[in-house]
Amino acid sequence: MAGTVLVTGGTGYIAGEVIDQLLDKGWCVRTTVRSKAKSEARLRGRWPGAGDQLYVFEADLMSDAGWDLANEGCTHVAHVASPFPVGVPRDENELIVPAREGTLRALRFAQAAGVQHFVQTSSSAAIAYGHPASKTAFDEADWTNLSAPEVQPYVKSKTIAERAARDWVAENAPEMAFCSVNPVAVLGPVVNDDLSASIEFVRRFLTGEIPAIPRVGFTVVDVRDVASLHVLALEAPADKIRDERFACAAEFMWMEDIAQVLRQHMGEDARKVPSRRMPTLVLKLTALFSRDIRQIAGEVGKRKVVSGQHAKDLLGWTTLPVEQTVLDTARSLIAQGVVRL
Ligand code: NAP
Repeated sequence: MAGTVLVTGGTGYIAGEVIDQLLDKGWCVRTTVRSKAKSEARLRGRWPGAGDQLYVFEADLMSDAGWDLANEGCTHVAHVASPFPVGVPRDENELIVPAREGTLRALRFAQAAGVQHFVQTSSSAAIAYGHPASKTAFDEADWTNLSAPEVQPYVKSKTIAERAARDWVAENAPEMAFCSVNPVAVLGPVVNDDLSASIEFVRRFLTGEIPAIPRVGFTVVDVRDVASLHVLALEAPADKIRDERFACAAEFMWMEDIAQVLRQHMGEDARKVPSRRMPTLVLKLTALFSRDIRQIAGEVGKRKVVSGQHAKDLLGWTTLPVEQTVLDTARSLIAQGVVRL
C-alpha cells in the first residue's frame, strides 16, 4: 500500500530514515524543512533517484506559513520534527512551545487537508520520567510525572506535546486515526555530520572527550527500527492504530555496556573509549556548570527498562541486536568523517 505522506522535519536523523524506508516502499513523500536554501540540496543528494516521488516544503513549527501547501494531497502524516538539543536550554519554553504548538499546528493543517492517519513521534520521555527509582519496568501505560523536580525541559516538552495532541484529537478530530511512536535512546548509522543529540555521547566516547563513564543507562533502539515502526504504523489499518501508543525500544544498556561493546569489537578505533567509572559525586558537581551533564544527572543509577513488546505483538515489529546498533553507530561516525582518529 502506498499513498502520499508528509514527514515533518526531513533534515532530522529519524525523519531521514523514515523517508528512506517510505521511498523504498513506493510512497510519494513530502517533507518540511525550516530552510529549503540550506537543506534541499542535501536531501536531494541523499535520494538522487527520488525525482517527483519526493517534494520538499518550507515550514517552521512556530509559524503557519507553508503548512497548507505541504499537506495538500496527503493522506498520511508522520510528525517527527521537534527540538532535541544536547543540553538543557536556559528557558524551558524554547523546547516546550515549539514541541506543543508545532504538534498542534501539524494536526490542524493535516485535518484541514483531509488527512485521516497521523503518527506522532513522541518519546519515552513522555513515559519513563519522574517516577521513583524503584520503578524499573515501563510500557505504554506509563506517563511521565511532570511534577517531579528532576524532570528536564526536553522531557516536559515531549510529554506536554503528546498530551496536547491526544486532547486535541479527542476534541477536534475523533475520526482521525492518531497514534504515537515513543522511541527510547536512538542509535544506529548516521548518514552525515548533522548529529542527533542521542548520538553525541558515542562520538565523545570515540574521541576521548568523555574521560570516565557515568553510571547512567537507557533502553536503546536502532534508528532503522524506529523508522520501520513509523512505517508499520502508517501502513496499518486505521482501527488497528487509533489512539495507540507504541513504546519503541529494544534493550537496556548501561553506558558501561556500550563502551565495552566498542572496546571489544573496534580494536584501535576504540582506543580512546573510557573504561573507568565516573564517581557520582564528580558527575553531580559537573552538572552544576555543564548543561549537557545536567540533562543526565538526575538519571544516575536508574535502570529504566522500556518494553517494545506491544508494537511487536500488534504490528509484528522486530528489532536489531543492540550490539550491532552500537557498532554501526560508531563505524558510521568514522566512515562519515565525523570522528577522525
Ligand atoms: P534531530 O536530528 O535533531 O531532528 C530534529 C528535527 O526537528 C530536525 O529536522 C529539526 O530541523 C526539526 N526542528 C526542530 N525545531 C524546529 C522548528 N522550530 N521548526 C521546524 N523544524 C524543527 O533529532 P531526531 O533524533 O531525529 O529526533 C526527531 C524526533 O524524534 C523528535 O521529535 C525527538 O523528540 C524524537 N525522539 C528522538 C529520540 C532520539 O534518541 N534521537 C528519542 C525519542 C524521541 P532543523 O534541521 O532545521 O534543526
